[in-house]
Amino acid sequence: MTERVINFNAGPAALPLPALQRARDEFLDYRGSGMSIMEHSHRGKDYEAVHEEAIALLRGLLDVPEDFHVLFLQGGASQAFATVPMNFLLPGGTADYVITGGWSEKALDEAKLLGSPRVAANTYAGGRSTRVPAQSELSLDPTASYLHFTTNNTLEGTQFHAFPDGHGVPLVGDMSSDFLWRPMDVRPFGLIYAGAQKNLGPSGVIIFLIRKDFLATARKDIPKIFRFGVHADNNSLYNTPPTFAVYMVRNVLAWMRDVGGLAALEAANRQKAGILYGALDTASEFYRCPVEPGSRSVMNVVFRLPTEALEDRFVSEAKKAGMVGLKGHRSVGGIRVSMYNAIPPAAVQTLVDFMTDFAKRSG
Ligand code: PMP
Repeated sequence: MTERVINFNAGPAALPLPALQRARDEFLDYRGSGMSIMEHSHRGKDYEAVHEEAIALLRGLLDVPEDFHVLFLQGGASQAFATVPMNFLLPGGTADYVITGGWSEKALDEAKLLGSPRVAANTYAGGRSTRVPAQSELSLDPTASYLHFTTNNTLEGTQFHAFPDGHGVPLVGDMSSDFLWRPMDVRPFGLIYAGAQKNLGPSGVIIFLIRKDFLATARKDIPKIFRFGVHADNNSLYNTPPTFAVYMVRNVLAWMRDVGGLAALEAANRQKAGILYGALDTASEFYRCPVEPGSRSVMNVVFRLPTEALEDRFVSEAKKAGMVGLKGHRSVGGIRVSMYNAIPPAAVQTLVDFMTDFAKRSG
């Protein structure tokens, strides 16, 4: 087998090897059917079994109550930025947005095209953010249709470790980069959305959890293809779903179950964060993490080196040592280490050993 690198990409990102191997093993002949799962009809029994298994695995892992729909749709989180307000920002109504980074700002921009959203808090200025707001900083409108926030800011390396309290206003969470990193209570949420290409599978499918009483408030006078109610009524089969992407998500969810579920993944994710932030905090001044300790992301860790030239050299030498995907997002710069569920603690230890050596040689 060819050597696999340690892949710290932010998304599309590393996937668990057993999920990829399973796809490889059944790629040409899915369970004796003589064709690939992606050549099967989305209305046939083989695909239907995959679809149902993916939903059941997700429900089981996250303990999703029956009063939530689980949907697999296309369009990515960027489309959700628009479809969420299309459905739930009612005429004459309002919605609250917490702005913590580039993605939440993009979500707000789409909502502005459709109504009059409010900014409930803003910790993002000049393209930078080093923390998420505390509950006491939120200015909430009790009449808002929903309170939207980005649970993990992929670009800035910040994360909500306690979710905002909407005081009865349903929460809407963009969990694209930290969905299923640990067990959580979904019930305060009216809607959760997460593009798959970080913790869950390939790009091309986005997962929605939508509480039924929240869905009941959605508009019904928008095009059918954008109506969450239409997709819910049809179990995500109103039109052709991204079948191969859903199949891969099924493989990843089965792997999550097999390694012990979300509690086991949380322990591994906290261990990885401990290894990397521990190294950043003890590594003299050479590596600097700009994010405030209480807001540090367990999924995406950002840090700087003394100069951009050293950052470039760090990225290229790491690549030679078998580690890719470490360059920070072009809007933020520096180094970004994305360590989603598929990255084992040993990979982060390998990176930290490299960092120690690099600092010694360059400091
Ligand atoms: N929200 C967050 C938090 C993200 O990290 C991203 C980037 N993957 C997006 C939204 C946009 O996702 P997409 O490119 O799938 O539309």
